[in-house]
Amino acid sequence: MSIASRIEALRQRYGRDLVILGHHYQADEIIDHVDIVGDSLELARRIPEIEARNIVFCGVYFMAESASLLARPGQRVFLPDHSADCAMARMARAEDVEKVLEKLTASGRRVLPLAYVNSSLAVKAVVGRFGGAVCTSSNARVMLEWAFRQADTVLFLPDRNLGRNTAGQLGIPAEQQVEIDAAGLTLDSEAAAQARLLLWPGCCPIHERLMKPEMVREFHRHFPGCRVLVHPECSPEVVALCDGSGSTAYLIKEAEKAAAEGRENALCIGTEFHLVRRLMERHADRINIIPLAQASCSDMEKVDAPRLLATLEQLESGAGAVTVDEALKAPARDSLMRMLENCR
Ligand code: SF4
Repeated sequence: MSIASRIEALRQRYGRDLVILGHHYQADEIIDHVDIVGDSLELARRIPEIEARNIVFCGVYFMAESASLLARPGQRVFLPDHSADCAMARMARAEDVEKVLEKLTASGRRVLPLAYVNSSLAVKAVVGRFGGAVCTSSNARVMLEWAFRQADTVLFLPDRNLGRNTAGQLGIPAEQQVEIDAAGLTLDSEAAAQARLLLWPGCCPIHERLMKPEMVREFHRHFPGCRVLVHPECSPEVVALCDGSGSTAYLIKEAEKAAAEGRENALCIGTEFHLVRRLMERHADRINIIPLAQASCSDMEKVDAPRLLATLEQLESGAGAVTVDEALKAPARDSLMRMLENCR
């Protein structure tokens, strides 16, 4: 039997006792077997409605941690490869975030942390303890507006690009946005003292380093009048040259609309390649979808069909279930619930 057939046989065997979730950045060999596909926000929202005892999360570690936190008592969450982490999430360590926030608030300054969902549960817990919340690329604007209603200064982490791009939408001038260092050394500067938005020095290497302004210019030269749409984890320089930017859900919807309308010869999409390739194939008969860069996430790729099969084969034993430190649960849940409540 092929690996795919063995996975399907196990899915049949577990029936209602198993739900497999897959992030849009997963390869087809995984997406072919999932019950629910979505971006971080959609998948987090679906967890509370799942009744199955076993949830297999095909994505990266921070997503499985959040799923484990939101799961019901007795439910088990599995990630097929625990080393599938997120490079951006690794750029913000909870100890550093805590030290920086202590330093920032020591004088009574009201600073609210807003953490992109691509962060560890330990970071989400620190953020929750400081009254802050989580956001995704779908709701970053709503949550940044919310954060500014709570405090004069916001610390956005770990993605400086999503922070800057969202601040740009709110009209916050560049001089009021200051990138700090992870050790908090730059906090003593006059600029940091005046800033409305402090940015953690993190980024997604896929979106920041592999998607460049010259690639956007090149596409516009070859396809005059055609649009380039990118994910807001791209740098503000790239976003400024593009015709639109938004979350994974936004990019998928725009591709669907463009294919249905059939007015454009080509549409360029700048985000993780597995998703773009799926959109290219899905709409190939209606529109020419072109990737801005063939940039795939090596962490997402660690979850492959053989690892999914191995996880399903040992599901009964419970080995490898993602667990969450008890002490982190309440504050991390607070930060996640503030997002879910503000973005119903
Ligand atoms: S694409 Fe970037 S942000 Fe997304 S999981 Fe990979 S490294 Fe993290």
